[in-house]
Amino acid sequence: MSRFFSGKYESLEAYIPGEQPQDMKYIKLNTNESPFPTSQKVANMTEKECVSLRLYSDPECTALREKLAQLYKVEDENVLVTNGSDEILNFAFMAFGDTSHPFVFPDVTYGFYTVFADVNGVPYEEIPLMDNFKININDYIGLNKNIVIANPNAPTGIALKREQIEKIIKSNPDAVVVVDEAYVDFGAESCIPLINKYDNLLVAQTFSKSRSMAGARLGYGIACKELIRDLNTIKYSTNPYNVNRLTMAAGIAALEENDYYMENCKKIEDIRQFTANELEKRGFEVLPSRTNFIFAKSDKISGEKLYLSLKERGVLIRHFTKEKIKDYNRITIGTRQEMEIFLNTVDEIIKQEE
Ligand code: PMP
Repeated sequence: MSRFFSGKYESLEAYIPGEQPQDMKYIKLNTNESPFPTSQKVANMTEKECVSLRLYSDPECTALREKLAQLYKVEDENVLVTNGSDEILNFAFMAFGDTSHPFVFPDVTYGFYTVFADVNGVPYEEIPLMDNFKININDYIGLNKNIVIANPNAPTGIALKREQIEKIIKSNPDAVVVVDEAYVDFGAESCIPLINKYDNLLVAQTFSKSRSMAGARLGYGIACKELIRDLNTIKYSTNPYNVNRLTMAAGIAALEENDYYMENCKKIEDIRQFTANELEKRGFEVLPSRTNFIFAKSDKISGEKLYLSLKERGVLIRHFTKEKIKDYNRITIGTRQEMEIFLNTVDEIIKQEE
């Protein structure tokens, strides 16, 4: 820390993203990227846009917002486009949180929420998941505190139904409920159809997972016009050109080929089922996932040892050191071939343990 670093950040613990190692080529199943490429149209549109890079991007993201609005059957004013969904989530903490408006979220969830709260000086409360790693919705009824719920949750992969989340939204009318739907396209129910019914609902989604665009950094929020207006005030007070020209062109192209991406999601759901079955055959406990990853543990090997042994052999998965989940690993669903290599490598490692 330099002697100039503001005292308000003295105890800030920054978010640690998943490994992006550059030393060798791994079978990369650690940061929930899609194993499928972006479509050709995305490459073509991006290349074409290069000639305009001397110009700033459209701060309103007009064309992309129109496309998103069409897809989700909302109005353009219900949509805000951001630099990854991390940015819309951070905007939500900035816009709606302060010392008298804390945030509440589960104790096992996306690790960035505590950091968004801390960096913005927003107090927070973590509510323990049930023993089966599910969210007990009764814990969130009538709190009248801002709430953020990842649905499906990460790293567990478990989803709530829309009607369960609706109960939470309805019972907290004087606080904002943020539903982080980063993984919703892999078989869960979106809350977007509820945005016109509830003025306290913000849904966050991303192009990173289901649309193979993690490296482009593109996310969006969908909510009633008033919430979007507040979030825009934050955006225009921090980074008006938050989405660059190449990413915007890529996003528009991706939405024109949305069917391709949704088919990829179905393929990933099938490979997920195959992988979960195979792990269960090997005695793993696998939580029921509605995402592009599974969360699993073995009683033959510790979570950490399995992670390290796989890494040595060129397969990267994600291990968390938090006490409650340290026995588990989060395994991103890759191609069928990648998952077969993963399973064979697991067999090799477990055989050595015996
Ligand atoms: N929410 C959840 C639950 C996530 O796992 C992630 C991915 N790290 C994000 C949001 C943010 O994704 P992105 O910024 O790439 O849209």
